[in-house]
Amino acid sequence: MLELVSNVKQFASKQEWEYAWHVYGKALGKRNTPAPAKQCDRVEGDFPSWEKGWIQQGITVMAHLANGMDPPEASYLAWLATSKSVFSQLPIAVSVDFSPTPRALRAILASATDPAASEICYAKFMAGLSGIQRRYPRALMVMTDSSVQPHNWDRYPRKPEELLNGIAYPFAGVALAKTDFLSPKDGATPTHEMFHLLGFAGHHGNYAVPGYPEEECVMQRYPKTTHLCRRDGDALRAFWGGVEETTGRRFLL
Ligand SMILES: [Zn+2]
Ligand SMILES: [Zn+2]
Repeated sequence: MLELVSNVKQFASKQEWEYAWHVYGKALGKRNTPAPAKQCDRVEGDFPSWEKGWIQQGITVMAHLANGMDPPEASYLAWLATSKSVFSQLPIAVSVDFSPTPRALRAILASATDPAASEICYAKFMAGLSGIQRRYPRALMVMTDSSVQPHNWDRYPRKPEELLNGIAYPFAGVALAKTDFLSPKDGATPTHEMFHLLGFAGHHGNYAVPGYPEEECVMQRYPKTTHLCRRDGDALRAFWGGVEETTGRRFLL
């Protein structure tokens, strides 16, 4: 996730920690239906953004290769491994499917990708998507072999240090995740982005809560594991409790 929090936010207790995530989940759960067209798009920095009520609809996952070739079978295996690590650690009933990339999205992904550099540009992807995103009431997650450049490189000088492994906004319902299709089981980055999409804002190191042991965690900024620490698992369950309260629908299994 593109992330500007640099200092550590302190919570006094597990209860205070969970309450904050519960409130945040209530806010996302409120958006049950896509906003009307006029209110939908706004520009954040150099890319349009929107808030859409995808929670009740679920998530469509697809794969995109920088060279424009059809994704290998390994992309499906990579998704299966990611799905297993995500939903075994956060058992929720959200509809998720892995699908071939629709033609309209293929064109947008291709125009947002620089195959020579193996980079996909988030700003260009969002700009391309803005015209058609209302066709997709579900959240979209793209697993790609490319790094992610947040800014539009046609308008800003390209800074290699800004390259990300992924980016995800739960309110917009969009995620890009760099995926190693050669080792599909090594899914730390797609797991990390999926947990962002499912509500985890910020990173492990942005928060301090007494009473939890320090653990390696997939929500560290550069995760080396798919393991979700107990503290951040509590956060996500509290978040989905908030979604449940607003939607009146059960998600936590
Ligand atoms: Zn992140
Ligand atoms: Zn953590």
